Amino acid sequence: MEWARDSLKRLEDSREARRNAVHEELSQEEVDRLLQEHHPDHSGKGRSIAVGANANATAFPIELADLLESKSRLPDDYVPAADIETDVLIIGGGGAACSAALALNESGLKTLLCAKLRLGDSNTVMAEGGIQAALGPEDSAQRHFADSLVGGHGKNDPQLLKRLCEQGPEGIRWLTELGCLFDVTEEGMFRLRLGGGASVPRVLACRDYTGLEIMRTLKDATRLTTTEIMEDCPALELLDDGAGQVSGATIWNRQKNCLQSVSARAVLLATGGAGQLRFQQFGTSNHVGATGDGLVLAYRQGCHLEHGGSFQYHPSGSCYPEAMSGRLVTEAIRSVGAQVVNNEGHCFINELTYRDVLAAAIIREVREGRGIQTPAGSCGVWLDTPLIDIKHGAGTLQKQFPGIVHRFAPFGIDPSQTPILIYPTLHYQNGGVRVDEWCRTEINGLWAAGEVTGGLHGTNRLMGNSLLDIITFGRRAGESIKAQLPERKAATRSAADRFQRDLQKLSESSVQGPQLFPVEMNMNATPGQ
Ligand SMILES: Cc1cc2nc3c(=O)[nH]c(=O)nc-3n(C[C@H](O)[C@H](O)[C@H](O)COP(=O)(O)OP(=O)(O)OC[C@H]3O[C@@H](n4cnc5c(N)ncnc54)[C@H](O)[C@@H]3O)c2cc1C
Repeated sequence: MEWARDSLKRLEDSREARRNAVHEELSQEEVDRLLQEHHPDHSGKGRSIAVGANANATAFPIELADLLESKSRLPDDYVPAADIETDVLIIGGGGAACSAALALNESGLKTLLCAKLRLGDSNTVMAEGGIQAALGPEDSAQRHFADSLVGGHGKNDPQLLKRLCEQGPEGIRWLTELGCLFDVTEEGMFRLRLGGGASVPRVLACRDYTGLEIMRTLKDATRLTTTEIMEDCPALELLDDGAGQVSGATIWNRQKNCLQSVSARAVLLATGGAGQLRFQQFGTSNHVGATGDGLVLAYRQGCHLEHGGSFQYHPSGSCYPEAMSGRLVTEAIRSVGAQVVNNEGHCFINELTYRDVLAAAIIREVREGRGIQTPAGSCGVWLDTPLIDIKHGAGTLQKQFPGIVHRFAPFGIDPSQTPILIYPTLHYQNGGVRVDEWCRTEINGLWAAGEVTGGLHGTNRLMGNSLLDIITFGRRAGESIKAQLPERKAATRSAADRFQRDLQKLSESSVQGPQLFPVEMNMNATPGQ
């Protein structure tokens, strides 16, 4: 990185002085000002929409607003018939979907899981840093609750958060029994790391590929259940009985290139996030299927989107080399000592402060000219990764973060020797479909779990709480469906058609939704019938 020689020299020269420096915490006023001035959620680039449960009440990112107002992908003359009949339809193929399928197993209910891509192609499999659970000697569910509530700016739904924190240790036991191998200490105890915004170490990890290990465990276990799995089958529309109850979905079977309608007594949306919508042209850490489909489908049925304008921009997205742009550099690397440093060699903020605050501070540094510009014109700040080995001994970074080392190696970058250039990346959907503590939406017959839901994390999620979310609420959704399975109803497109008519009274959209794939993939072909 010859182009950054002077900047790297300033970073190295300042290392000894800042190594053990203690940061003054920002006052609440400073935090509020930083967020208002520099966080992308407050850029003023959102807009409200005129139809549906959030009409005129929420400023959505423009790309999401366009999709919420989009035309259905179902051809106008398509009439759903019950091509497939099941008791429970799970839409999604990530951690929340599999957790629900496992909870439904042996219930005697016929369960069908439809995934847009292959089972396990998801954000879950990409998770790096870890999963929170109050297992440490100093820890408790109350403490976990308090940390998450402060992190979420007090906007978390307290009932959802209470369930999450109470059930954390049990969720870890369940995963371990299924075969998930978390890192342990020499004494055989779970190794717990400190996460940003947490008051005690609470994050369990599998090195820096926690999601890969969790998804492996869940996927293997799900394949051993009686759940029928249909891959390459995105849901295009939810179906309802014409009287307010969701009763199935129309899917696009991409292998056969045909539409199929599924009649179900209960439908669970577990479609994950929306990072691939790349609001305000931010890079994203998300997998290719994260296009907010569940938000669009649920909204057409009348669901509220809680905190629908709140998204998490992860502070440490990679910004050099360009091929790695937007890819995540896990927060855990900061919890073991990597500092964020600007072009002047100055460590401008506590690297373990809340994600939204840190992201806003990095954006400010860049806007105010203290960033480091790459030859291709991107700009970011340094993550001083060599500090990890300096603080904890040679080889620590390689041992604890083999994934990061592996990903940078093809570009000739060894993060234990050379700092990584970072800039915030669109990472997580804080808001989403409104649910209660049993994952019931406001619409009968429709449940939702995981990243597609909103309320649990307020307007800022703490590291490790999403993996716990999908385990806790995926399973709770399954339990709730078992206990409250509605009767089978007719499967029509009444609600979706009514929504389209309401939209057309205002204007005709040129966009089709849900989006299904990133725009660049040019996958907008209308499915055959
Ligand atoms: C790079 C990265 C690192 C992360 N690290 C952490 C971490 O360390 N700790 C933590 O707690 N959280 C982390 N997260 C967040 C966390 O991984 C996710 O929020 C969580 O796993 C989401 O699980 P989910 O089951 O709700 O969604 P996903 O795992 O994304 O699954 C959604 C599934 O739905 C499918 N789908 C989408 N649309 C449709 C459709 N129309 N029809 C059918 N199927 C559809 C998708 O293909 C996918 O299979 C990370 C996220 C990313 C991207």
